[in-house]
This record gives sequence, structure tokens and C-alpha cells, in this order.
Amino acid sequence: AAKAAGKDRFQWFEWPMDQRQKDRMEVYKMAEAALNQGRLLLHYQPVVEIASGPVAVEALLRLNHPERGLLSPAAFASALDAPRLARRIGRFVLESALAQAETWYRQNLPLCVTVNVSAYHLLDQAFLSDLRIALDAHADLPASAVEIEITETAPLQDFEKARETLLACNQMGVRIALDDFGTGNASLTYLQKLPAQTIKIDQSFVRNILHDPKDHAIVAGVVTSAHLLGLQVVAEGVETDRHVALLTQLQCHCLQGYAIARPMAPEWIPDWVKQYKPMIYNDNYPPPPPP
Ligand code: C2E
Ligand code: MG
Ligand code: MG
Ligand code: MG
Repeated sequence: AAKAAGKDRFQWFEWPMDQRQKDRMEVYKMAEAALNQGRLLLHYQPVVEIASGPVAVEALLRLNHPERGLLSPAAFASALDAPRLARRIGRFVLESALAQAETWYRQNLPLCVTVNVSAYHLLDQAFLSDLRIALDAHADLPASAVEIEITETAPLQDFEKARETLLACNQMGVRIALDDFGTGNASLTYLQKLPAQTIKIDQSFVRNILHDPKDHAIVAGVVTSAHLLGLQVVAEGVETDRHVALLTQLQCHCLQGYAIARPMAPEWIPDWVKQYKPMIYNDNYPPPPPP
């Protein structure tokens, strides 16, 4: 009986592992089918500079599912770092985002485009040539208008290789952003060792700045560090006008979040940019500190 119970327990313990693998496989197949059938697409979320207006749009991946509708990356995250698919999806994202931004450039709508790159694609031998090919195919878009976002939450297996690849991106003229800044367990090392032009403060720090003195201090500190390092700093997850006001006070000039705009289909972007008016006019608006 003891043996049988032990065996039962063992099987009970095994099952969720199996299920997780099955789920991963399902997600993989779903993403692969979407890619093959042209059901992956990009939405764009504006980033604004408080004093001057929209400065960039972030390309955010969506999967058009025949039954479930438009899915966000959370529903297929594991496929973004799966062997083979990571590179194919990454190439698709680079190609479509740069094509779209080039179209806007030609329409006299010069927006920087930011593209999320998975750690897996970044460390792929072919990443730099994928980027080069996309830049060459869309030569009306200056490389300096392209920024790639590296998330801290995906550990870089080969840090030295990542650093070299990012340096090569900079040499092509492409900018680097540290995404979800503060959430990894090596934020300061990334900041110290990786070539980056932008810090994107994760929304988990931004969300409670109005009420939580710790978060307020952390955001203030990151903004100050960014200025001292001569880096651009963007607050993510800016959800209310009060967040906008406080972040302005903290001299965080670039904002992204629902208070500014939700991610939207590309055809909405030109009208959105035209109708945009700075959210708060402030006579005492502090100028950025000297470099
Ligand atoms: P992320 O790069 O940090 O992107 C910001 C996420 O926050 C987006 O979620 C955006 O819709 C959401 N967001 C923006 N403003 C607000 C706000 O005010 N409040 C709240 N609660 N959320 C806000 P989304 O589009 O679901 O993307 C989730 C993550 O998936 C992204 O986080 C990024 O890490 C990843 N991702 C998105 N597109 C791609 C892609 O093309 N390739 C790869 N490898 N990853 C991607
Ligand atoms: Mg991002
Ligand atoms: Mg982010
Ligand atoms: Mg994030």
C-alpha cells in the first residue's frame, strides 16, 4: 500500500511537468501557424517627450487568433525564446517595424521606432545580419531612428557576446534601450557594462510613485542616474495625469503608458500624432540639466 501511495504521489508530481511541456508545444504550434499564415502583426504605442510631443513608437507584437482574437505576447511568450522560432519571429518584427517606420518617414512623420529583441535572437549568430538586411531594405529610415530594446528579465547566457553584438548595433547607428529597467538581478551591471542610450523604467516602479515613498525615491534615483550618465530615460506604465505631473517634476521627460496612448494599429498613428497636444502646460517646467 505504501508503495502504491508512493507511486501515486510520484505520478501526481510528474503530471504538471508533462502538462507544461504540452502547453509549451501548443503555444509553439500556435505561434508558428500564425507566422506562416500571416497572422502576426504589430501594434504601436507612442512615447512622448513632455515638452515637445511624440518622439517614438514602440512596436508591440500581436497574434491574430482565429477563435480568441488579438493576443498579447503574454499568451505566447515561450515561443519568443524558442529555438528556430525566436529568429523567425524576430526577423518578422524587425522587417515590419522598419518598413512601417520608413513609410512614416516618407510621409514626413519622423518617428523613432523601438523594437523588442529577445535574448535568444540577440545571441543568434545571424542577428546582426538580420538587422543589417532590414536597415538596408529600408534605407529611407535612418539607423539612428531605430532603437532595440533588451529586456533585463531574460538572462543573457553569454554576456560578453551580447555586449559585442550591442556595440556592433551602435556602430551601425542603431540605439539601444534597457527595457524593464530595475526588474532584473543585474540592472546596475547592465547599465555599467552594456552600451545603452536609453533606460526604460519598468512599470512596476512607476505604478505606485504617487503613494509609495520607496518607489518614488527609486524612480527619482534612476532618473538622476540617467541624466548623470547622459542617457535618455523613459517611464513605462504611466497611467494617470497625476503620474504625468509627478514624473515631470522628477525631470523624467519621456513617458509611455495608457495616460498618453494605448498601443494601436499602425493606421491610427498619423492621426494620433496630429491631434496630440502636450498634456500639461507648466510655466515652471524645469529645463533638462546641462549635459
Ligand atoms: P514591454 O516591452 O515592457 O512593453 C510594454 C508593455 O506594457 C506592453 O504590453 C504594453 O501594452 C504595456 N503597457 C503600456 N502602457 C501601459 C500602462 O499604462 N499600464 C499597463 N498596465 N501596461 C501598459 P504587451 O504589448 O502585452 O507586451 C508585453 C511584453 O511582451 C513587452 O513588454 C515585451 O517584453 C514583449 N514583447 C512585445 N512585443 C515583442 C516583440 O516583438 N518581440 C519580443 N521578443 N518581445 C515582445
Ligand atoms: Mg519594450
Ligand atoms: Mg518595458
Ligand atoms: Mg515591461
